[in-house]
Amino acid sequence: MAKRDYYEVLGVGKNGSQEEIKKAYRKLALQFHPDKNPGDKQAEEKFKEAAEAYEILSDADKRARYDRYGHAGVDPNVGGFGGGSGGMTMEDIFQQFGDIFGDSGGAFESFFGGGRTGRTRSGGERGTNLRVKLALTLEEIATGVHKKIKVKKQTNCEVCGGSGAKDSGSVQTCGTCRGSGYVRQVRSTFLGQMQTTAPCPTCNGSGQTITAHCPKCKGDGRVYGEETIELDIPAGVEENIQLSLRGKGNAGKRGGPPGDLLVNVEEIPHDYLQRDGMNVVHELYLNFADASLGTSVEVPTIDGTVKIKIPAGTQSGKILRLKEKGLPSVQSYGRGDQLIHVNVWTPKKLTDEEKNLLEKLRAMPNFHPQPTKGEKGFFERMRDIFK
Ligand SMILES: [Zn+2]
Ligand SMILES: [Zn+2]
Repeated sequence: MAKRDYYEVLGVGKNGSQEEIKKAYRKLALQFHPDKNPGDKQAEEKFKEAAEAYEILSDADKRARYDRYGHAGVDPNVGGFGGGSGGMTMEDIFQQFGDIFGDSGGAFESFFGGGRTGRTRSGGERGTNLRVKLALTLEEIATGVHKKIKVKKQTNCEVCGGSGAKDSGSVQTCGTCRGSGYVRQVRSTFLGQMQTTAPCPTCNGSGQTITAHCPKCKGDGRVYGEETIELDIPAGVEENIQLSLRGKGNAGKRGGPPGDLLVNVEEIPHDYLQRDGMNVVHELYLNFADASLGTSVEVPTIDGTVKIKIPAGTQSGKILRLKEKGLPSVQSYGRGDQLIHVNVWTPKKLTDEEKNLLEKLRAMPNFHPQPTKGEKGFFERMRDIFK
């Protein structure tokens, strides 16, 4: 496919100023940014195409050659050393033009994450991710919950604003890269020599060197502190699920982007209810007389207690179901059930009077077990529950 004209790609005129070119590129880069268009191949192509156009038109020398000779004038395969973008990877684009995003201020930062190369215009290193555990009750899991958690972490130094410099006078343009933050490197490839750019090793890509450090953070740009972070836990989360909060981890070094906060959910065991996926299970103990005669009992549920009827002749091991008294699903609609597992309690200690009564009952005809076909065995019941 023929290459589109670079001016056309960016939508600027042949006499467009550097400022116009930059503005046009930034607009396209934001529009087709892969973080905004995950998995969209077409957007990725547009993103690359815009980066390539910008690479040429933002460089006076390359632009002049392009104006004169067209694509051939800047094609790396033709000139051998032209520095076109034929082989530009996404990584190259972020590394080379990451600064364009920095200029747009905080708005982009949230989903750009401050640069996947770990560097921004300020050049600071990305902060590390932080892991915290968050224990939740079953009730909190059932409804979802808004939490405030205190996190000890590295935060931006307030004295220097994260720059690490004592004052504005102690920030100087880097001598190695003359402030660009990048150095050009010549690499030999099977296509011949290729010119690429890499972050400046002297200033770590910031384009600046610091002559006097901030007294508070000693030049690091961050200090150890604490932050209260608010987060919404969705209903139905499971133990060991990891929620990640972008940019809420440790502050980056010298103004670099922050890391992420990774929250690991833990369940606090419930006194009366046990979780089984979306269902909750309650072990109900009935005395022998209640199971024989029938009764009504109160059972705990996630939503409070509920009164249920126990029919006469209820066998130990029976499972009663309370529809939709379980947990919601994180991914979909609907709610699990509460399963009530009936246990008929056999007395462990007996008084003489109790013994006498039981001795009489022992011989009575209805006290002989007479399981019929209707009395399902344990495995059959489990199969019914889970089918
Ligand atoms: Zn400081
Ligand atoms: Zn430098």
